[in-house]
Amino acid sequence: MLLDYHTHTHYCNHATGTMASYVETALARGIREMGFADHAPFMPQPWMKLAATFEEYEQYVSDVLRLRQEYPEMTLRLGCECDWVEGKEKEIETFLAAYPHDYVYGSLHFVRGFAYDMQEGIPGYQGRDLNQLWHDYFDDLARMAETKLFDILSHPDLIRKFAYQAPGDPKRFYEKTVPRIAAAGMAIEVNASGLFHFTQGPYPTLDFLRMARQAGIPLVYGSDSHAPEHVGCCAAVCQALAAEAGYTAWTRFAGRRRAGELAFG
Ligand SMILES: [Zn+2]
Ligand SMILES: [Zn+2]
Repeated sequence: MLLDYHTHTHYCNHATGTMASYVETALARGIREMGFADHAPFMPQPWMKLAATFEEYEQYVSDVLRLRQEYPEMTLRLGCECDWVEGKEKEIETFLAAYPHDYVYGSLHFVRGFAYDMQEGIPGYQGRDLNQLWHDYFDDLARMAETKLFDILSHPDLIRKFAYQAPGDPKRFYEKTVPRIAAAGMAIEVNASGLFHFTQGPYPTLDFLRMARQAGIPLVYGSDSHAPEHVGCCAAVCQALAAEAGYTAWTRFAGRRRAGELAFG
């Protein structure tokens, strides 16, 4: 494991530590390629506080570019985690094109207005039809991929976060969604944060990863660090899961294009 594409910064108001300390922790852990992927200023209200403002994002980009000069021993990528806010596609496209991003994660932290992955959203699960919620979530993942605004789908089944699972085998949702993600040319991420949630395992599940592998979908690893000490977190667990699904390498990105692979080590 020598790569981590999903780290946040203080600009999103819910991560701690200096940006340099993320890079230094990564170097100390043998990571030679990492990317920041902070939250872009696209979230539905009232959740904008969880993202950088447009002005802060400008500063974030210049900080990453400066750190790239200061740490030549690190291949430092400029990434972004951007929510798909339906109806704002033109603004998102213009925003993303304004910066020299190496990759952009597309994220779905809301399902048709429901903040399903927030503590504050938990009461909203009461009385909800979970089958419908999961259907809408996985359908929206595919619709997000089909916008082709983003390069990598972050934490693909984050809907598992609070363990409100639709009854039955979730493969029926994956079967409809994975081919659409593949057809849209989007990569996916194996994300360590699920190890700290009720899911107690990375996002996505082994079954999802197997289908993605069979569909030829490229894969990256992301710790989803919101503190420097989490950089590279649980990489061995994530890699083992990916290997079990048949993957042998992480895909690298530069300038919003695939830039070769990094074999599992
Ligand atoms: Zn975050
Ligand atoms: Zn996220």
